[in-house]
Parts: sequence; structure tokens; C-alpha cells
Amino acid sequence: MAANNEKKEQNIHLPHETILKSDALHQYILETSVFPREHPCLKELREMTLTHPKYMMATPGDEGQLINMLIKLINAKNTMEIGVYTGYSLLSTALALPSDGKVLALDVSREYYELGLPIIEKARVAHKIDFRQGPALPLLDELLQDEYNKETFDFVYVDADKDNYINYHKRVVELVKVGGLVAYDNTLWSGSVAVPSDAPMTSYVRNFRGHVIEFNKHLAQDLRIQICQLSVGDGITLCRRII
Ligand code: SAM
Ligand code: CA
Repeated sequence: MAANNEKKEQNIHLPHETILKSDALHQYILETSVFPREHPCLKELREMTLTHPKYMMATPGDEGQLINMLIKLINAKNTMEIGVYTGYSLLSTALALPSDGKVLALDVSREYYELGLPIIEKARVAHKIDFRQGPALPLLDELLQDEYNKETFDFVYVDADKDNYINYHKRVVELVKVGGLVAYDNTLWSGSVAVPSDAPMTSYVRNFRGHVIEFNKHLAQDLRIQICQLSVGDGITLCRRII
């Protein structure tokens, strides 16, 4: 009985950053395939994040599982994340990396990162993380000034300000190796990309909808990359650099 109440509680607080229109189906995926295999520190970080007023920003568990799998599949060692928040995707990344792997983590807010940091430390993976506070664009430009940084990243996860995604792509595509992978999050933007502009939606969704639509077109025309749009989470587009 207590376990049932706990499940109902999780339902109420479930982050709805997901494109699946059935909460029951998303909950089924989480309960069947994600939560039973979730690292205890990821669970702790996820539950801690649910108490934060902006918990809706967090990467959902099924997407964290996907990131972890992708990193292992491509044997990624040198990675980057743009948009950390409390660190669910960052911890998923750090746990997937080998002991000498690295993730360069960029966010304007150190405060958010520090909420999750004690849990990341408990998971014994903090040594893999190089956190840099600040707007990501100038940080990426700084990296690009050094030729040695070009074509060095195996995996990049982008989950920050959607109106800058085209600007991030211009830079990130030069930093990732040929054969490396870039994953852009929220590319289906609550499904708003596929409905008329006068359809009902929150002003937050409306404000960035045009940017996400432009970004998706931009990726489709970029012949340096192979792309694959997944409907996991709020939509995630995988880009493999081919030239
Ligand atoms: N990946 C995170 C997770 O697993 O929970 C969620 C990231 S949240 C959707 C977006 C993050 O991007 C916020 O933490 C925000 O502070 C950060 N952000 C927004 N604009 C930024 C910018 N210009 N440069 C760097 N970070 C930015
Ligand atoms: Ca996201």
C-alpha cells in the first residue's frame, strides 16, 4: 500500500518535459525500464531536483539512460555538455565514461550545478567533470581559438537556451571529431513544431517555437552531419559528423 502511494506521488511530480502524450505510457517506460536500473545517485539527484522550483527543466530518466548508452556505444572519452542545471544528464554522462574520461560542463549558473554536486561526489565521478560557469557561446569561442581543440570531442550534449542552438551548432560541429556525436535536446519542443502557430500553447513554448523550427531545418540542410530525430523526452536529434 505504501509503495502504491509512493508511485502516485511520483506521478504527480513527474517532470513533463516529454513528447509522449500519454503520461501513463511514459510512467510505464520509467517504472519498467528506467527506475529499476537507475544508479542510486541518479535516483537521489532526480528526487532532489523534484523539490526545486524549476524541476521541469531536468532531463528525464529515459533520456539519461539513452545518453549513458550512446556514450558507451561509441566509447566516448572526451565529452561536453551545454546546459547542466542540477546535473541529471551530467551524472548520466560521468557514470558512462571510463575512469579517465572527461566531460566539460558549461552553464551560466554555478548555483544549480552545486545543488547536485554533493550527489555527484557521492557517486565518485566528480573528477571526470570540468565545470565552467558562464554563457556557453564565449566559452566555445575561447575553445575554438586553440586549433588543438578542434575535432577532439567524441560526444556533445546540448540542452541550454534554444534561441542559440544554431550558434552552438556552428561551433560544436568544429569541436566534435569526424565520427563523433552531437545530441540536441528539446527539438520537438512540446510538439509545438508540428501545430499551427495560432494553436493554444504556453507563452514560454511559443517564444522559442520559431527558433526550434528554424534549427531543425538548419540541421536537415547541413551536409557535414548525418541526423536522426528521436521522440525520446521532448525530442532529441542525434547528429554524427561525417566530414
Ligand atoms: N541537462 C540538464 C539536466 O539534465 O537536468 C537540464 C538543462 S536546463 C534545460 C538548461 C540549462 O541551461 C539551465 O541550467 C540554464 O542555466 C542553462 N543556460 C541557459 N542559457 C545558457 C547559456 N547562454 N549558456 C550556458 N548555459 C545556459
Ligand atoms: Ca532539455
